[in-house]
Amino acid sequence: MDSKNNGKVQCRLCKNWFDYVNVLHLRHIHGITSEEYKEEFPYAPMQGSDYIERSQKACIAGHLEWWNSPEGQERKEEMSRNNPRRIFLNGYFP
Ligand SMILES: [Zn+2]
Repeated sequence: MDSKNNGKVQCRLCKNWFDYVNVLHLRHIHGITSEEYKEEFPYAPMQGSDYIERSQKACIAGHLEWWNSPEGQERKEEMSRNNPRRIFLNGYFP
């Protein structure tokens, strides 16, 4: 697959590089929906790895409060019991 993409993803239609292939970009610039794009380019990624990493971090940050609550603490302990080989790091299992 694409390796030298700097964490970005390329729109297969206009060859521009983006953090992710935006639905509005497809609709306004190319006049197609994301479904049509996926049909046309089934193996083209829609999101760059940078974007995926950022959204995962944002998701984790959003859950930190919960992880630090009594309920989250309990869940954490349960997960470490079930997965003793995994190291718990900043509220998620890497
Ligand atoms: Zn495009």
